[in-house]
Amino acid sequence: MAGGKTSGSCSRFQANIFNRNKCQNCFKARELHLQNELEMEQPQEETQG
Ligand SMILES: [Zn+2]
Repeated sequence: MAGGKTSGSCSRFQANIFNRNKCQNCFKARELHLQNELEMEQPQEETQG
């Protein structure tokens, strides 16, 4: 995946110099970035019977 149009946040959150709560790259809230990580990292539990 390269050069995709992400709806909002960028790949990684970078604390802004002026606004630490905002990202210096996309100027979005840190929460938006955290969500991305959570979505990507999903623990898949395989039940063996
Ligand atoms: Zn960002």
